[in-house]
Amino acid sequence: MRLVLVGPPGAGKGTQAQFLASHFGIPHISTGDIFRANLKEGTPLGVEAKGFMDRGELVPDSVTNEMVRDRLTHDDVVNGFLLDGFPRNVVQAQVLRAMLAEKKNPLNAVLELSIEKSEIIARLSGRRVCRNCGNTAHLLFDPPSVDGVCNGCQGELYQREDDKEEVVTRRLEVYEEQTAPIVDFYRSEGLLITISATGSVGDITERAITALSRVH
Ligand code: AMP
Repeated sequence: MRLVLVGPPGAGKGTQAQFLASHFGIPHISTGDIFRANLKEGTPLGVEAKGFMDRGELVPDSVTNEMVRDRLTHDDVVNGFLLDGFPRNVVQAQVLRAMLAEKKNPLNAVLELSIEKSEIIARLSGRRVCRNCGNTAHLLFDPPSVDGVCNGCQGELYQREDDKEEVVTRRLEVYEEQTAPIVDFYRSEGLLITISATGSVGDITERAITALSRVH
């Protein structure tokens, strides 16, 4: 299964991607996670991406596309992959289509998580991420047992710089202007499946699996 997950920031792509990747036995490839890992390690890629990420802007296509091209050469993608956070604009979508056409392995589906704007803000402002393992918690919807401490590994929970209100507003604008057009792109390719991303995490996963079970 070669799958792309698309939806605005806060739609729960990362959470759903983990469940879906494990259900289908495919790697979860999140460009945001790769950038954050590079940032933590202080690599040249991380240094280059940091300013864009802190402002809620997209990292330039030249950098992002090459990073994904490289990731898709790894052995673990033989049975497919789940891309989360890529593509983020129409140029990236076209580059991805060309990369996969070269390998004669086109996408099977693009799953859109659809959610109201008012809910996005509530979700993002309460989101906390573990500095150690990267898992997410939510102050309202999935609070940690101990304040500020990850339930999984006891690492420190923090608020992503780009989850602060000013940056969230910019990320939403960037989504509307640059990423939303890929929904039409994939609709016209006949690949788009849209599900509602409201309700419990388990309900949304079930909805996604049911919708994807019809994909070949
Ligand atoms: P995410 O974790 O997917 O919300 O990504 C966090 C940040 O990483 C984004 O706000 C961008 O700055 C950067 N980023 C992630 N994926 C991409 C992409 N496909 N193209 C450009 N920038 C990206």
